[in-house]
Amino acid sequence: MKKIFIMNLGTTSFKFKLYHVDGENMDVRASGEIESVGAEMSRWQYASADGHSQSGACPIPDHGAGFTLFLDILQRDGLLTGLQDLNAVGYKAVHGGSLSGTRLVDDELIAEMERVTPLAPAHNPIYLSAMKSIRRDYPELTQVARFETSFHATIPDCRTTYGVPYAWREEFGIRKYGFHGSSHEYIARTMKKLQPDARRVITCHLGGSSSICAILDGKSIATTMGATLQSGLFNNNRVGDFEPFCLPMLMEKLNCSMEDVLAILSKQSGLLGLSGVSNDLRLVLEAAEGGNAQAQLAVDTLIDNILGYIGMYIAYLGGLDALVFTGGIGLNSDVVRSRVCEKLAYLGLALDSDANNGRTDGCISTADSKVSVWRLKTDEESIVAQNVCSMLQ
Ligand code: AMP
Repeated sequence: MKKIFIMNLGTTSFKFKLYHVDGENMDVRASGEIESVGAEMSRWQYASADGHSQSGACPIPDHGAGFTLFLDILQRDGLLTGLQDLNAVGYKAVHGGSLSGTRLVDDELIAEMERVTPLAPAHNPIYLSAMKSIRRDYPELTQVARFETSFHATIPDCRTTYGVPYAWREEFGIRKYGFHGSSHEYIARTMKKLQPDARRVITCHLGGSSSICAILDGKSIATTMGATLQSGLFNNNRVGDFEPFCLPMLMEKLNCSMEDVLAILSKQSGLLGLSGVSNDLRLVLEAAEGGNAQAQLAVDTLIDNILGYIGMYIAYLGGLDALVFTGGIGLNSDVVRSRVCEKLAYLGLALDSDANNGRTDGCISTADSKVSVWRLKTDEESIVAQNVCSMLQ
């Protein structure tokens, strides 16, 4: 039996799960999270599978300190006898550039993550800082990274290549990588169990950050994000696909730097920028219902964007057997699911409206629908834990 500590890190957030893995059996024994890492006061909470829970507030200057906090709690709670009892820590790491899959955190990995940090500036520095501080404080501990790009390694070259000078791809790694790999992989594995004959699956991970993936025989063959997490679908705060030749004009009109324009495109665009209401789809839908035309346009643009990618992916897959919705929007918005699905009626796809309006995970299409439609909760950490264990073996 292996004990694996999986970390999912955000700029100021820290989430962990402690897994006990025994062959195919995976048990979450404890989980916890910290809010406002790096602030004067950070809030944390912890819960074990045995029903022990704790919470508190204290200064937690960085993610490495967050790890130390939970390591200590896990020992006091009797789930770890000491550091030597932990087989590995695993990261849901984001951009590994030329390195993908599941890899030991070593000098080569750190150097490559640093090289591609300009492609994931909001994510790679956080992971690098945690990896380095845990390496310094616990040098005997095995650290493993599972990159979010990994599941997309099977996408054909013609679909990961931009129409730019060939040397850019070779020398600088300017190509599409794709992200949210753990979520799409989890759905692919789950669909294999739920509907083994579904060879052609499209997964819509729609949430604060969104992407769609085309899966053929369990393998990714296309996804919406590219060299960075900024591209692809129109997101809550992000523009998604955009015309790079507008940048010089925007810099001139707004009298600002390229960084400023990029910050607007990644933080104040998408649903928020277009609607002028919120980055939360619930509020944008409410405003649209109340007659706000900008909010209505934002919702229509989001739906149209999702539909366009699904259409493209049906062409790549040569048809569709199953369509899956996950993520905060995919799971909770019956409006998004029904508006997307009504445009796919030409496929013989029919939603069961009661199931779509309900709250239960599972199949939400009618029994005679030619394409099954699913509402499934994703579990990214379990995929990281499984891959870390396979690598250790
Ligand atoms: P995630 O990042 O996957 O946790 O998703 C968070 C997003 O889900 C939020 O930005 C909300 O806009 C969206 N969301 C949550 N519940 C609903 C809902 N009932 N209807 C529409 N959007 C929702």
